[in-house]
Amino acid sequence: MSQGFRAYARYDALAKVSERKIPRFKDRTARQSVSEIFGCDTFDYEEMKKTLPATDVELLKQHAAMGSPISLETAHSVAAAVKQWAVSKGATHYTHWFQPQTDSTAEKHDAFLDFDVGGRVLEKFTGELLIRGEPDASSFPSGGRRETFEARGYTIWDASSFMFLMETKNGKTLTIPSLFVSYSGEALDAKTPLLNSMRSLNKEVLKSLELLGEKTSYVRVNCGPEQEFFVVDAALASLRPDLMLAGKTVLGSPPQKGQQLDDNYFGSMDARVMNMIMEAEYELIRLGVPIKTRHNEVAPAQFEMAPVFEDANLAADHNRLLMATLRRVGEKHNLKVLFHEKPFQGLNGSGKHLNWSMSTAEGVNLLSPGEKPHENVRFLYFLAAALKAVKDGGDLLRAAVAVPGNDFRMGAQEAPPAIMSVFLGETISKVVNHLIKEKSRDGMGVDENGTIDLDLARIPVIIKDNTDRNRTSPFAFTGNKFEFRALGSSQSISVPVTYLNVAVSCALAEMNQSLERALEKKSRDQAVLDVIVETLSAAQPIHFDGDGYSEQWQQEAERRGLSNMRTTPEALDVLLRDEVVDAFVNLGIMSHRQEIEARYNVFMERYVMLRLIEMEIAQELIDTHVYPAALAHQTALGEALESASDVLDSFPTGQKRDFTDFVALVEDLSKTRQALGAAIQKAHSLGEGKVAADYIASEGVSALEGARKVADLIEQKVDDTLWSLPRYRELLFAR
Ligand code: ADP
Ligand code: MG
Repeated sequence: MSQGFRAYARYDALAKVSERKIPRFKDRTARQSVSEIFGCDTFDYEEMKKTLPATDVELLKQHAAMGSPISLETAHSVAAAVKQWAVSKGATHYTHWFQPQTDSTAEKHDAFLDFDVGGRVLEKFTGELLIRGEPDASSFPSGGRRETFEARGYTIWDASSFMFLMETKNGKTLTIPSLFVSYSGEALDAKTPLLNSMRSLNKEVLKSLELLGEKTSYVRVNCGPEQEFFVVDAALASLRPDLMLAGKTVLGSPPQKGQQLDDNYFGSMDARVMNMIMEAEYELIRLGVPIKTRHNEVAPAQFEMAPVFEDANLAADHNRLLMATLRRVGEKHNLKVLFHEKPFQGLNGSGKHLNWSMSTAEGVNLLSPGEKPHENVRFLYFLAAALKAVKDGGDLLRAAVAVPGNDFRMGAQEAPPAIMSVFLGETISKVVNHLIKEKSRDGMGVDENGTIDLDLARIPVIIKDNTDRNRTSPFAFTGNKFEFRALGSSQSISVPVTYLNVAVSCALAEMNQSLERALEKKSRDQAVLDVIVETLSAAQPIHFDGDGYSEQWQQEAERRGLSNMRTTPEALDVLLRDEVVDAFVNLGIMSHRQEIEARYNVFMERYVMLRLIEMEIAQELIDTHVYPAALAHQTALGEALESASDVLDSFPTGQKRDFTDFVALVEDLSKTRQALGAAIQKAHSLGEGKVAADYIASEGVSALEGARKVADLIEQKVDDTLWSLPRYRELLFAR
């Protein structure tokens, strides 16, 4: 090989990939059914019943359902029981496990170790230790809310989610799902606001049901997040600093075969990935995560997994566990799992579909049409509330999915646009349009028997087969739930669920007020119908069943006055609007304006930092890989041209053109990389807030794209032995 041979590491990695063996997965699964092992590593009610008094178990159940308080006495008895259980299963440590505002989870481990008065070692765990841990909060993002001198955050046991044993190769740790709050009681995590929002929604829905003449003891918020991700071989990924640090590629020329043949979706799964997923599923089932579905996704090397829906807070915990488990088990299988929203340019990105519904304590789904007219009135009332939530709170929902990676995905013909609208499908649209029309004709829709005459009883029969598979809507009604499809793959679902709950709570609060007023003058049937129809009419602008990816929709949406916020910084500004702040504070989700500002700052800083990381990696890769390879290639071309002209007495014209074209390309690279460098410098000078974010979202991103475009063209031209970075086709297809 020539002295310019730079690709040896890449070739080595490729050789390694072709020799990979699938690690043999514990054969226990072959003999154990899901029902035998489900939740066996969790301290669930079944396990509690073995050692705890029935009254304590009942208290914990009530706490999980209704947030009723838990006494220190109960905590003591739970602590003693869980310690015994965990130690008997081989746990040596415990940890409070929580969700800081970083899309990941955090933990700090302590041993059960203590000494008795005689100095003998014993395992100790108390109610106090269970309830409260104290990791130093100074290095978690707080948006400037805490001065370092009061850098103290508490983790508080979230008794609504089961404790579990986290198993690593050399031991087990009792893991305690927790909240994370500051010394002065402000929420510092993503879960506290989520729980608050579930309570506020519970309150409004109970009120609605009462006004509708129905009853239940509490309302559940059900969520089933479908998780998309990419999988690449670890040896290849390790040669890509961008994958290592940013979880995405910042350079890379798309492969000739990508997803255009449509042969990936639901195709048979790659054996290595399949085995990795099976092992992850095994661990998840033991942790009580009801993982159910797995399949290939649209892009090569892209997959999806989905659980059976659960209470929103559990779904949030379990989605984090799913992601963490896939990452960890992936490593064992020499696979890197990518949750970035757009790891590969030119291919579909990864999102998360959040299926969301509400049900009563008895399990009645409030978004499900029923057999009887009154059930369908109830259904329409909550359906109208969801539409109103998107009509009034669409911008907030857009802010809910404002994470840096999502900017490259949304509206890119592969994911819903940044315009928030609702898809209802043919049947429900008909019902809604009919209702609105009847009303405007003053037909009123109540027949002589006082029942509502809208063929409502027929809805359920038709609806089952009519839930359209329109994938282009960000918020789609799919039979008995809404599917919020704009979430980024890397996001914790806590924030989107919280904002959605807030938007629906606000919508219901207004509807309930109107209904209360109407009930003073009219029969219940008439009053309810009036509120439903008014709400549905007012929400019409966000109702759109057409192709959300189309250009026409962008224009139509603009005519309808709908927002189209394309970048994260723009969308985050929504959080500071007075009406949003008021909603959060009035519903008790957060305590005051500063708390929301703190979150805004955290999100904005994250945007700035993540984008800067991407820009800086791109710069380094161009400087240290692409540019040297380009120069070496240019030199080789030049030398070849030289030697040809020695023989021919003139430059061969074709080769000369190739050479000058290539030189021009390298010149472009030189210029665009300088522009990128200047943009990085400028961005650094602007701080970490909105000003920097806005600059990066426009100039920064375009400088990066400019340099990348040239680098990718160069990748297509240079001698393969000079190319040190694993190529897209290798990352996507070599396994
Ligand atoms: P898709 O065709 O979109 O993949 P699935 O039937 O696989 O739909 O369901 C996707 C997710 O929706 C699953 O996690 C499922 O448990 C969840 N889901 C189903 N019904 C409800 C509901 N009523 N409320 C919330 N989530 C639900
Ligand atoms: Mg779905």
